[in-house]
Amino acid sequence: PVRTSDELIKAEEPVLAHNYHPLPVVVARAEGTWVEDVDGRRYLDMLAGYSALNFGHRHPALIEAAHRQLDRLTLTSRAFHNDRLAEFAERLSALTGLDMVLPMNTGAEAVESGIKVARKWAYDVKGVPADRATIVVAAENFHGRTTTIVSFSTDETARSGFGPFTPGFRVVPYDDLAALEEAVDETTAAVLIEPVQGEAGVIIPKDGYLAGVRELTRRKGCLFIADEIQSGLGRTGRTLAVEHEAVVPDVLLLGKALGGGIVPVSAVVARREVLGVLHPGEHGSTFGGNPLAAAVGTAVVELLETGAFQQRAAELGVILRDGLQELVGKGVLGFRARGLWAGVDIDPAIGSGREISERLMREGILVKDTHGSTIRLAPPLTVTAEELRSALVALERVLGS
Ligand code: PLP
Repeated sequence: PVRTSDELIKAEEPVLAHNYHPLPVVVARAEGTWVEDVDGRRYLDMLAGYSALNFGHRHPALIEAAHRQLDRLTLTSRAFHNDRLAEFAERLSALTGLDMVLPMNTGAEAVESGIKVARKWAYDVKGVPADRATIVVAAENFHGRTTTIVSFSTDETARSGFGPFTPGFRVVPYDDLAALEEAVDETTAAVLIEPVQGEAGVIIPKDGYLAGVRELTRRKGCLFIADEIQSGLGRTGRTLAVEHEAVVPDVLLLGKALGGGIVPVSAVVARREVLGVLHPGEHGSTFGGNPLAAAVGTAVVELLETGAFQQRAAELGVILRDGLQELVGKGVLGFRARGLWAGVDIDPAIGSGREISERLMREGILVKDTHGSTIRLAPPLTVTAEELRSALVALERVLGS
């Protein structure tokens, strides 16, 4: 028998680890910006899989690329070459303006790989004494969930109970060039930051910060690693968020939308001097660069090459910003927005972020809270102006009720 939402939610409880607290909606199918639950209710997706669904659910070009590849070849491992990987790397390199690609699967893996590569670069190229390399990161960062990555998290919930931690990281306040200046020294392999801090609540640094990080890292002789796993690939109205300050990092970390919402695809993209430090046997992944991932990833890059999604994000971002501005003082304390991405601070007197998310769910809008009273809006970049306006109207209604 087909199980209802309530039955499926109850069935998960004894058999699934409780590391998430999902909204009580059980999605069964989706198309574009809309998802449908097992009971046939429809919802506008205003989260887009934390930006993994930038092109919407089941974008026809991406689904077609996946189907075509499924019918031919899915996995070789890197023990052999496959006929899809060269084109993926060529086009991703051309899209980002960086020389070389290291294909991985998840965001956390790209971050881990970026850290390893930066350390190796520090020893092989910069001449840092063995095992002394440091990496400078920002407070309130979110780079993933592995042991090394939570080692430099400042979120106690993410760290507590998971030590001992990986050494070699220094944490400085985000958006603070003076603190960075002080923390970077001759042992520093890299500065690793998010150009916009997504999980922290869509925190956008002051104009000049990213350019400042670029100038500082170049002057001090260390790498600039930009984690664009959430901010990249069209979300902010540009292909990369660093483009807002015309900055090119040494190392770029991509994930989420790179897999088109179909398969996990991530990548470290970097200058040849950096990724060139890796030799056979020093790093790898069974699934990294598999032909299905490469085919979907290539189709994603193809969508971005036109610039249409970036332009949509920039144009619709104005509607989002203006709509949120209208709500300030009416239940919204403040917000930060760039492109089709916003962090909205809700007046705690009206409800927690969770409560507002649940009320929006009952209005047919899916969002996710972060950090207590903040909700995050990040619809697929395929969202229409009308859909976006309807979400803003629903938010206004929910805040007033
Ligand atoms: N880096 C950033 C900036 C992210 O936002 C995330 C996920 O939210 C990650 C890394 C980790 O990606 P994944 O969940 O695929 O490991």
